[in-house]
Amino acid sequence: LAALQGKQPMPDTPTPSERLGTGRIRLEAQLREALANRHLELSYQPLLSVAEDRVAGFEALVRWNHPERGWISPGEFVALAEETSLIVPVGEYVIDTACDAVGRLIAAGTCRAPFVAVNVSARQLAHPGLIERIVARVDAARLPRGSLKIEITESQVLDYTLVAGIIDVCHGHGIKVALDDFGTGYSHLCHLHRLPFDTIKVDQSFSRSMLDDVRSMAIVETIVRLGHALSADIVVEGIETPEQLEALRRLGCQYAQGYLIGRPQRLDVLLASG
Ligand code: C2E
Ligand code: MG
Ligand code: MG
Ligand code: MG
Repeated sequence: LAALQGKQPMPDTPTPSERLGTGRIRLEAQLREALANRHLELSYQPLLSVAEDRVAGFEALVRWNHPERGWISPGEFVALAEETSLIVPVGEYVIDTACDAVGRLIAAGTCRAPFVAVNVSARQLAHPGLIERIVARVDAARLPRGSLKIEITESQVLDYTLVAGIIDVCHGHGIKVALDDFGTGYSHLCHLHRLPFDTIKVDQSFSRSMLDDVRSMAIVETIVRLGHALSADIVVEGIETPEQLEALRRLGCQYAQGYLIGRPQRLDVLLASG
């Protein structure tokens, strides 16, 4: 009994830093170090243009190569980066690296007019100068404006005025904006009504159940139609089987992303494989 009583109860929901199993301060210091030492890396996942049956662009996904733990996924450290405002320099690193990647993809002729999409969080959106940085980098590298896109996760759309302003500034500069993970958590049609996103990315929870569950299929079909009506491209995430891709083709969905098309890969691997 004494041994049991001595045990600490498990915390209800571990914070990101607790999940990583180390003190938050230490981890914050390590993330700072990782930034300085370039231990953050981007991997690139292809997006397939369904009608043309070709890779049209890539999404950049950040990873942390931790000296003791190995690769840490963004799901594990982006929240920590947000809590500590380190997301701002992390985001700048992502933007700069993604711009270099576009240049190399164009030079290598990997695909016609490639784009790279970067994920940005609410904290980054609220930080002035984000879009200006993108435009400055794109112009300095003499890249087409449309070659860099941004993705905003639906759950991060809290302030309509802010996001509407961001989209407006982006459009003024020829930069496209996607609504990411559409359909998870609290989804609001308001997002689509009030915010002119260029692309809507349907979360992988729908593609996973699409073929077995008529309700999921009906939802994907309806979002594809809605996309047509709103002149927004639809990307369905998490496509893992040829049958799922075939279903998207039938629905007239523009883009597919998922392990069937390609896993996220390092740029050098991607360029080497053509
Ligand atoms: P996301 O933007 O929705 O990215 C897609 C996630 O789904 C990626 O996970 C990708 O590896 C995974 N995925 C892609 N295809 C498949 C598939 O066919 N099956 C399965 N099971 N999974 C698939 P990842 O790389 O762990 O990224 C997680 C999230 O972290 C991203 O979700 C994005 O919201 C966020 N994130 C990634 N990079 C950044 C970044 O640079 N900045 C910010 N703020 N957030 C980022
Ligand atoms: Mg994304
Ligand atoms: Mg997504
Ligand atoms: Mg997702």
